[in-house]
Amino acid sequence: MISASQTAVGPSFIRPVIRHATLITPASSLLLCLLTLAIPACEKAPPPSSSAQLRVVVTHSILSDVVANVGQDHLHLTTFVGPNGDAHTYEPTPRDLIALADAAVLIENGLQFEPWVDKLYESSGSKAVRVVASQGIQPRTLNEDGHEETDPHCWQSVPNVIAMTQTIAAALAAADPAHAESYRANAQAYQTQLQELDRYIQEKVSTLPAESRVIVTSHDSLGYFAQRYGFTVLGTPLASLTTEAGDPSAQKIAAVVQEIRHAQVPAVFIENMQNPKLMAQIAAEAGVRFDSTLYTDSLDQPGSPGETYLKMMHYNADTIVESLK
Ligand SMILES: [Zn+2]
Repeated sequence: MISASQTAVGPSFIRPVIRHATLITPASSLLLCLLTLAIPACEKAPPPSSSAQLRVVVTHSILSDVVANVGQDHLHLTTFVGPNGDAHTYEPTPRDLIALADAAVLIENGLQFEPWVDKLYESSGSKAVRVVASQGIQPRTLNEDGHEETDPHCWQSVPNVIAMTQTIAAALAAADPAHAESYRANAQAYQTQLQELDRYIQEKVSTLPAESRVIVTSHDSLGYFAQRYGFTVLGTPLASLTTEAGDPSAQKIAAVVQEIRHAQVPAVFIENMQNPKLMAQIAAEAGVRFDSTLYTDSLDQPGSPGETYLKMMHYNADTIVESLK
């Protein structure tokens, strides 16, 4: 399994394929830094890739793992929001700008998960082909304060990632036709693993009584999971599809505590990219457990149960079912 955070080693020979991207030179790095005076310091550019690798940048760690499984050693991958990062509130760095300026392909989640990506793309002067991995997926929408909002957390339903794998394979094949067959075969092998994962989650959830399938997290990140696997998401304290709102009011916390007591939920969940303090306070006030962390918006570090998408979903299903039993 290739981790998205690693850069794979390319083939030992150079194929006669014309690339859209060029290698970063000290002069181009300097130019980029000069062009972006709003950014205080010039960071070092990512290491140059083998000239046989397609330069791909991906906005967040979960998506990057999916891309790595499809592209494997044909890609030089850069990920903007890494393990335990929060894409909702992310602030791009000069390193991101340089990587994007030099990339052939930008793969993003879409559905408003990365509110900063349009500006970053524009500032970078990048000519990268933009690929929205969630294209074609039926989005979940919610009414928030009278506005219709789109739920970006589509990866929480495995069939969506099966569809995204197809989109990614087609985009990589178009950008790098010499390896099209390899992308297709890798995607197919990964989709088989995803189908097994989907079945595993359904079987695991079936061991939990229907009335116990109630999830409380800090922000509304598990709506697609709930829809696919038959859960209800109780009012979240951040009351939002993003984490941008900041801490909730005392009244909002009291209302969530009331809901938890009323629904007799035995446990609430911390999210890996968020400060656990809020859920600790809610759990203490409601008198329930809060000892479990779920991987919602990003992967965790290599070596952890959240190091890949397959592992994080497996872990989340086990944790949710065991905590609510
Ligand atoms: Zn989120």
